[in-house]
Amino acid sequence: MVSFNNIIGHKDIVKHLQNAIKTEKISHSYIFTGRPGSGKKLIATTYAMTLQCEAGGTEPCQKCDSCKKALGKNHPDIIMVNHEKPGTISIDEIREQVIHDVAVKPYCSPHKIYIIPDAEMMTVQAQNALLKTIEEPPEYAVIMLLTSNIDALLPTIRSRCVRLDLKVVDDNLVKKYLMERLHVPDYQAEIDASFAQGSIGRAKDAATSEEFSSMTENALKILKYVNTMEVYELADEINSLSGEKQNIGDYLDIFQFWFRDVLMFKATQEVDNLVFKQEINYIKEQASQRSYENLEKILEALEKTKVRLRANVNFELALELLFLTIRER
Ligand SMILES: [Zn+2]
Repeated sequence: MVSFNNIIGHKDIVKHLQNAIKTEKISHSYIFTGRPGSGKKLIATTYAMTLQCEAGGTEPCQKCDSCKKALGKNHPDIIMVNHEKPGTISIDEIREQVIHDVAVKPYCSPHKIYIIPDAEMMTVQAQNALLKTIEEPPEYAVIMLLTSNIDALLPTIRSRCVRLDLKVVDDNLVKKYLMERLHVPDYQAEIDASFAQGSIGRAKDAATSEEFSSMTENALKILKYVNTMEVYELADEINSLSGEKQNIGDYLDIFQFWFRDVLMFKATQEVDNLVFKQEINYIKEQASQRSYENLEKILEALEKTKVRLRANVNFELALELLFLTIRER
């Protein structure tokens, strides 16, 4: 069900938007910023649906014609701006879908709402064209810009919009969501929630994708046996990882959680806060075998590897260096 009540976290933003409805102080333009998967689109569409609802409350009623259309994603007065080319939203697309369209009165609702996902992809010309509409909007217009990179928006646009920053959601809330709504088992929810780093979208992807669970399995296999593997076996692992180059960032994240667990356990001897609780025997073993210095070096090496790979350093070489550090004790 689409409702503010179902949104995980983001309490301040939800309160702000519901308050705007209550006090009839709807802004004509909003910017929702937050990392990919943080819930920008969900909040914007929930707000849009509520604004158009015939019942006029602070939650969409789900039953009126307007709500049904919004749920069916065919509401004539909620316009999701799309673009043809990947990576860019052109001035023509903004003209056609927003600027010319906004001159036409709403079809059947109090507002005419435009949601622009990936707003940072608008070209400078597109932004300048949109600026005029943002400066002098018709009474019924509401424009919502969604972006993960606010710096790519012109200062003139930024200064004229109400800006709402989506913060990362607490790991425990993410975990609870996964367990209650997606029925993910406890230990898996813990891993997915850490991996998600405060993004419900990323958590959901992790929890529902086969690829992610086989990736976790593979990463754990490497982590458990890295110190007992023969060099040629390790070379094989590196080769198979290089076949999954697009996932390497995710692998490195999982490696990081693992060694943080080992470090945490070494320092506290506590199991409760570990991501990989179910692997406690292996964690224990590594915690007793590795020194603090070694663990800190590994965590540093993981950071370095990320930087190296972003800088396009030879993939196999970057991983070899990493595994060398991991195998040192
Ligand atoms: Zn309704």
